[in-house]
Amino acid sequence: MKKMICIVCPVGCHLEIDEHHNVSGNRCARGKTYAIEEYVNPLRLLTTTVKTSHPKLPRLSVKTNAPIPKKLLFSVLDELNHIVIQHDVKVGDVILSNVKNTSVDVIATKNIHFELK
Ligand code: SF4
Repeated sequence: MKKMICIVCPVGCHLEIDEHHNVSGNRCARGKTYAIEEYVNPLRLLTTTVKTSHPKLPRLSVKTNAPIPKKLLFSVLDELNHIVIQHDVKVGDVILSNVKNTSVDVIATKNIHFELK
């Protein structure tokens, strides 16, 4: 038995799900779907930062453009730790594509501009 709070709507029903995917506590069908997805393969949006070589902006904020499996979060963070942005980036530019073969990209959530010397 696993307990969770449904986050699909503001009501926030307290759900319980067992190993046979029997769900209780939900006031509507969306809660059952949420509980089963959360039990089988929980997904999360990842928001973090990556290094840059910019002298005044050492970190660039990024996020996944869709939720990814929760179990992949740390391996994606590890991959992002190896990236150093050394060129201009605009909001929405892809920083890392198709992370862990999920068809999800990590995109910039901030602009960064390197001055020409
Ligand atoms: S079960 Fe339905 S009513 Fe309850 S929080 Fe989830 S979506 Fe909202």
